[in-house]
Amino acid sequence: MKRTFIGTIFTLTLCLFTTLGFSQSKEIKIEFLGNCGLYLTDGTTNIYTDFPYKSGAHGYMEFDESELDSIKENSIFIFTHKHSDHYSKKNLKKVIKEKGGTKYGVSNISELEELNKTLNDFEIKAFKTKHKVFGINFRHYSYLITWHGKRIYLSGDTTNPETIGKIKNIDLAFIPYWLYENAKEENIEIDADEIGIYHLHPAEIKPAEKFFKDKKNEHPLTEQGKIITIELQTE
Ligand SMILES: [Zn+2]
Repeated sequence: MKRTFIGTIFTLTLCLFTTLGFSQSKEIKIEFLGNCGLYLTDGTTNIYTDFPYKSGAHGYMEFDESELDSIKENSIFIFTHKHSDHYSKKNLKKVIKEKGGTKYGVSNISELEELNKTLNDFEIKAFKTKHKVFGINFRHYSYLITWHGKRIYLSGDTTNPETIGKIKNIDLAFIPYWLYENAKEENIEIDADEIGIYHLHPAEIKPAEKFFKDKKNEHPLTEQGKIITIELQTE
């Protein structure tokens, strides 16, 4: 699959408008890689979430081998859990061997604290969330990434909207369709300016496009390679 950097599903322009000159713009770019895979960068720090996974695992989105080659050196890799549509030990090992980088997830979540001390512009907070499949609870974390006051929430595979319901003033939330439905059913409000619906199965893309067609702030992530930008303007 070829990546297109041209189109943008939605651009978030969260600006502090100023009538004075000398304004300087800063931005964070978020690229949708497939499933819950995202690449976030402010040009200095490179963060991958739920990527690399195993291409095509469980019938979900595939990605080209070149995606692995384009991963930036010394990146931060964050995983919600270890299922193969989110995480590939083999792919990650190869990437880290070639380019360095550090992995954070269920097996070393406490190390996030140390990481936060080294990050100047980002803060990454983990929330233990439920991921139950056929009665079995899998260890799973959702994340809140804060960048210059902008709050980006990544829910991963959790089905339980309780945690996200408690988080206020989210600028951009990434949630799967089932969490969107569960929140509606349980009357739990998601306090997010924009919602990206990720982890769509290829067969769910068309129905999701139809469903979200007239929704203003809720956007299905249907195309890999799409970029979302959050802009910050400072004087
Ligand atoms: Zn999944």
